[in-house]
Amino acid sequence: MTTSRVAPHAFWLAGRKATGEDTFDVTSSWDGRLVATVSVPTEAQVEEAVAAAHAVRDEFAATPAHVRAAALDHVAKRLAERTEEIAQLISAENGKPIKWARGEVGRALSVFRFAAEEARRFNGGEAQRLDTDAGGVGRLALTRRFPKGVVLGIAPFNFPLNLCAHKIAPAIAVGAPMILKPAPATPLSALILGELLAETELPAGSWSVLPVPNDRMPALVQDERLPVISFTGSDKVGYAIMDSVPRKHCTLELGGNAAAVVLSDFSSEQELDWAATRIATFSNYQGGQSCISVQRVIADASVYDRLVPKIVAAVEAQKTGDPSDAATDVGPLISEDAAKRVESWVDEAVQAGALLLTGGKRDGASYAPTVLADLPAGTTLACEEVFGPVLTVAKVDGVDEAFAAVNDSKYGLQVGVFTHDVQTAFRAHQTLEVGGVIIGDVPSYRADQMPYGGAKQSGVGREGVAYAMEDYTYERVMVLTGL
Ligand code: NAD
Repeated sequence: MTTSRVAPHAFWLAGRKATGEDTFDVTSSWDGRLVATVSVPTEAQVEEAVAAAHAVRDEFAATPAHVRAAALDHVAKRLAERTEEIAQLISAENGKPIKWARGEVGRALSVFRFAAEEARRFNGGEAQRLDTDAGGVGRLALTRRFPKGVVLGIAPFNFPLNLCAHKIAPAIAVGAPMILKPAPATPLSALILGELLAETELPAGSWSVLPVPNDRMPALVQDERLPVISFTGSDKVGYAIMDSVPRKHCTLELGGNAAAVVLSDFSSEQELDWAATRIATFSNYQGGQSCISVQRVIADASVYDRLVPKIVAAVEAQKTGDPSDAATDVGPLISEDAAKRVESWVDEAVQAGALLLTGGKRDGASYAPTVLADLPAGTTLACEEVFGPVLTVAKVDGVDEAFAAVNDSKYGLQVGVFTHDVQTAFRAHQTLEVGGVIIGDVPSYRADQMPYGGAKQSGVGREGVAYAMEDYTYERVMVLTGL
């Protein structure tokens, strides 16, 4: 914690601006400059936000759909109007190249638009005749979904705006109050989101954006007035949260070591060029700090020798450098410590016998786009999520071996399968233990309305606007008697 003479960024307490007593600094991992100083809510202020959310929950659940949809539409419109300013902020706080930051604002805007549409059609309910059984004669069941209660949304640093949008927009769509907690490294875009929400007619208390320090999070996680936790981040923190509150409803969107599989039918020069370019781009975008970055390439032996040099050339063509430069493809990692961790994993792999095809160098918080072959099993890189610009390539013989290699991981978020064969596509869908199978492209494809989430240790539950809305609510049936 530091005390700064610059007026700190306020946070949002029950829909209004507030400041606390302490502050923390947000710095650029590219050049170390101070981007902003942010105010930390006091314990009393956090209590005030939780109490307000708890108190307003019935009122918010009963707010007409058109009011909630209008608020969501308003935020989408304002994100469109302020895209450039917000993209600059994301790029500064996160080190994300500006072109990707602009894309992130565009995606967050779509999330709010989808949520507005879903809010309008949500909760139509269903009527069920009960006279299929003698005891049900003269009775009718009506079902509707209602919020489970206040949601605690916890977001990671890597998509600081869009992943906050994925938490709060579905909550507004169903009328569930939210306490949103951004990542400490990247709170600024979430605080801007608060600015846009404050322009709406949503009830006071129905939302707060609170940059609560990590060491004070366990108290918030334990708070019984917050029965739903929607967490996106590392498996270590996510499972620790879930284990600490086994009776709460937890959605965990966690990590992965996503694979791109290139099969023998995807073999013309043009097809391999496309696959190599997509793989190189999406193993490095956001510096590899996406939960669905390509970490593993699993290529059939018939295409491997032609594919790998194309991948290496495409990786070497990625332009690294200043994230504010429109031409930059790959910026720094979130911190020098993160880059040092990636460096140590690559060094360990090379010492164990992996072949370094390109990259392998660190400069401060920047790590060069890296490709390795012949990765020995059991190395950290082979077992864990690298969350950096590092790609490994492996040769397999046929579809069975390729799919077995994909499943040989504790993670299961998404997979990309480069094939044209419909039978193989169905087989992939049937056998790969992941939340999403992308045919003909990298695993990194995500549309924000799709169900999104993991199998195995990549998480529990689904996001994607309508799916999160389902997650935040439960079905309540009413039986009418005497009809
Ligand atoms: P992290 O787990 O370190 O932090 C995530 C959030 O949890 C942050 O807001 C952090 O402040 C908070 N936190 C930390 N300790 C806490 C505690 N004890 N109690 C409650 N909250 C606590 O993750 P990160 O480094 O910010 O993000 C990277 C991770 O997120 C990667 O593993 C990545 O794969 C994952 N991720 C997953 C998805 C997905 O949708 N599956 C999307 C993006 C990122």
